[in-house]
Amino acid sequence: MAKRLAVVDNSKLKDMQLKEHIKNLCPVNRSGTECIEIREDNKLYISEETCIGCGICVKPAPEAIHIINLPDALTKPPIHRYGENAFSLYSVPIPIMGKVVGLLGVNGIGKSSAIKILAGIQKPNMGNLEKEANWDDLIQFYKGTEAQSYFEKVRDGQIKVAYKPQQIELIPKAAKGTVKEMLQKVDEKGEIDLITEKLELSHIINRDLEQLSGGEMQRVAIAATVLKKANLYVFDEPTSFLDIKQRVKISKFIRELADENTAVLVVEHDLIILDYMTDLIHVLYGKEGVYGVVSQPLSTRVGINAFLDGFLKEDNMRFRNHKINFDKGQAFASHEKEVVTSWTNISKKQGDFTLTAPEGQVHKKEVIGVLGENGIGKTSFVKILAGVIKSDTGELDEEIKVSYKPQYLNSDNEELVMSYLHKAIEHYTGQLIQPLNIEPLMAKQLNQLSGGELQRVSICKALSTEADMYLLDEPSAYLDVEQRLSISKVIKNFMDVRGKTGIIVDHDLLFVDYLSDTLLVFDGQPAVSGTAKGPFSLREGMNLFLKDLKLTFRRDPESKRPRANKPGSQLDEKQIREKNLYYV
Ligand code: SF4
Repeated sequence: MAKRLAVVDNSKLKDMQLKEHIKNLCPVNRSGTECIEIREDNKLYISEETCIGCGICVKPAPEAIHIINLPDALTKPPIHRYGENAFSLYSVPIPIMGKVVGLLGVNGIGKSSAIKILAGIQKPNMGNLEKEANWDDLIQFYKGTEAQSYFEKVRDGQIKVAYKPQQIELIPKAAKGTVKEMLQKVDEKGEIDLITEKLELSHIINRDLEQLSGGEMQRVAIAATVLKKANLYVFDEPTSFLDIKQRVKISKFIRELADENTAVLVVEHDLIILDYMTDLIHVLYGKEGVYGVVSQPLSTRVGINAFLDGFLKEDNMRFRNHKINFDKGQAFASHEKEVVTSWTNISKKQGDFTLTAPEGQVHKKEVIGVLGENGIGKTSFVKILAGVIKSDTGELDEEIKVSYKPQYLNSDNEELVMSYLHKAIEHYTGQLIQPLNIEPLMAKQLNQLSGGELQRVSICKALSTEADMYLLDEPSAYLDVEQRLSISKVIKNFMDVRGKTGIIVDHDLLFVDYLSDTLLVFDGQPAVSGTAKGPFSLREGMNLFLKDLKLTFRRDPESKRPRANKPGSQLDEKQIREKNLYYV
């Protein structure tokens, strides 16, 4: 098996002169052995057999050419290779009847390829491009394992897959009409009433798809998936745009789908929810656009800890050179407490909704996490701080300039990333462009970006706009776990170095926990009333927030990450008794 992968994206390599130049640079070619060649189809090819991995050819075209030395521990051939010098997928996740199996890993390393193989849409070629792909080779490969019987079913046409895509905001572009009309079209089970009630959609059933909020659209997409008759349900990020209460409810709903004839696969980057929802985990690792590896199934706890460690003990595989840990020491780092603004007795009526904010203040160099349900006035409150809307009563010490990244990102814009972010490119290359990995996106139009790419660009845009305070609404959506944590560091560092204030509204509790110095907690009743309490210390804020949610958390002894306790368990009851719902 070749220990090196050479992947070439010829669509990004149009210039013939550049191709000739790259070919002439290769030391193997220069020594008289053919390594890089330009064939009759005018495409550039690299021989993995003769390539010595020097990387010289990558420099003139880093977007188009990838030379990767495979880890030594990867000893098996790929399950599927998409062509010469194309993406390789090493192994696939294995659905198990009666279980919810989670996929945890970075974006762009073969999730959708794996799902196509599991659904029987893509026949795997076991890395052999000469031979026609067939299922029997794959069945032989997995002989004696759970996967063998699964792929026998795929071969015999007995597997039917229903899939909820990641980017739900594309749904209104593809489907028109009301929620009811859309769900009726896909209702193969005749359970529209039951499912819409369970997913709390009955009150919006006659609403037009275009008028739905992100959280509503997410639940409609989940309903449309489960109304199909299938024995494998795949959910790609089922909790984006849902608040924490809804995330917990959806987790329970998805768990109930798994039975002796039904398997469930979930891709989810909210680690607390993934932990809560799944029985087993596959860790995915590799390099975006080059190769992807799916680990053996592991118990959820072991799998998440292995992912955070960057090391798979079972396969003796180190796939990241640093550990991710959640030691809370950093959250209480001292910072200057210079007040930016303060408020007392603010209230604002908007239609039937009333917002109140008794008193509080925010400081320079502070990151304030905001927790609360959807529709409870979080954005309105920050708009009051920014003077965009005026409160009916109360006092605001000083109106401040706020730069805002909205929750839902508009991807209709044809502008190039490099022109959209020209300020950031001029002033914040080291602080924003590099750590947010914007460089590979520069030549793309905004409407060509994936959900995660658009999110990174939007965060960069908001932070490079001059302001006193930065409000980022759901910055974690569409980002994988590693990106969430690296963006936390970018935000913290930006506020610290520039002496600014960050307000982060997010529903990924672990992300909020990792990022925040203090917490602003909203409680009340969505669409009726909301009260902004705090900012508090993390411990105080989490305790207040979780009281309403009826959840308690402990810290994993190894990774120090927060884990939800089983309701009614000894630990759950002990922590409730001790009023220590969040183990900080
Ligand atoms: Fe040639 Fe391989 Fe070096 Fe590229 S990495 S220049 S193909 S030897």
